[in-house]
Amino acid sequence: MRGSWYEIDLDAIRHNYRQLRGHLPPNVKVYACLKRNGYGCGAGAVADVLTREGADGFAVASLLDALAIRDAGVRLPILLYPGALPTAAPTIEALDLTISVSSVDELELWRAAMKKTRAFIKVDLGFFRAGATPHEVGRLLVMANAHAHVQVEGIYAHMSELPTSKASDASDQLRRMQAVLQHARALGVRPAVAMMSSTEGVLNHPEMDLDAVDPGALFVGLPESDKPARPVKLQHALKTISASLIAVKRLDASLGPVPDIPGFKAGMVLGVLGMGWGDGYPRDLPTGAEAIIGGKRARLLPPSHLEHLRIDLTAVPEARFGDQVVLLGRQGDQIITHEEIACLWGTDMVGLYGHLRDHIPRIYTGNHNTY
Ligand SMILES: *Cc1c(COP(=O)(O)O)cnc(C)c1O
Repeated sequence: MRGSWYEIDLDAIRHNYRQLRGHLPPNVKVYACLKRNGYGCGAGAVADVLTREGADGFAVASLLDALAIRDAGVRLPILLYPGALPTAAPTIEALDLTISVSSVDELELWRAAMKKTRAFIKVDLGFFRAGATPHEVGRLLVMANAHAHVQVEGIYAHMSELPTSKASDASDQLRRMQAVLQHARALGVRPAVAMMSSTEGVLNHPEMDLDAVDPGALFVGLPESDKPARPVKLQHALKTISASLIAVKRLDASLGPVPDIPGFKAGMVLGVLGMGWGDGYPRDLPTGAEAIIGGKRARLLPPSHLEHLRIDLTAVPEARFGDQVVLLGRQGDQIITHEEIACLWGTDMVGLYGHLRDHIPRIYTGNHNTY
């Protein structure tokens, strides 16, 4: 409503999917992870594109993301990562979702809340997060399989990405997964789908493909490492972060003295953008933050407000109320890159996408559908 928007390129999503699919054996399924509203790019729109490309299913951490995918008309399986509680059972059944189960306790509570429970068993291979320990998982699989109304569709893990992780940890985790699967087979309860590869795994550990992979960041163009074992050329799905000039004025003496804040000058032309920290721009305006207007770089002035940012338009006399200002992306000869913004904001690429807010309109390019 304040003239700010994100431009999302669905061709980039399509391209990234094809890059991945080209590396995978045909029997390996792709469950695209679209958590955090498809990494800010819109879970529904991204799921629609990936469905048309041949994805096998989706994985999300929030019911809202699952709802967005169903609203886009996608009927493929959706796995809910840990996070939902049995109080949400009616919604989960209505949306036809597959839940994650990590313990016997969880299994019993879900069973009591649902007519039919479709589940993936989650195993923790050393991430110290959700998931049954490798020691417990055999018993859990046996108990889940003993119930006629519980359908165990798969078993999965998320490879540890703790700051203390070492390169050798990946092979240790794969060995633990293989032992779990072997044990399950011996018990006669090995589920049809075993999965453990997120972006890092799928690009660097082809031996972890198993039956399916569930990368996420990869689809919006974020490789997790520089020289992956499976070389890919990914494209950023986020093309621009744009805002409009919602006010322009030349400061005069009737306002009183200009504030003693770096960048403010008597007689300057001040612009106001319809975007602020409530819209994902950092609360503490980074020193050196700029935006592009009229094909020129101009400086943002502190402080940042919930719904507004200030910009020094003194060197852009043609700037007018309503003009587009680019905070990330290209305008004319100027470009503010994803790397520049991530560095300025003190985050990494995934963190940059994590700043995207659901209430900001997304304009999609590269697709004939509208969202
Ligand atoms: C987030 C997540 C993924 C995807 O991770 P990326 O690094 O975005 O590829 C896969 N599996 C699980 C369980 C996750 O939580």
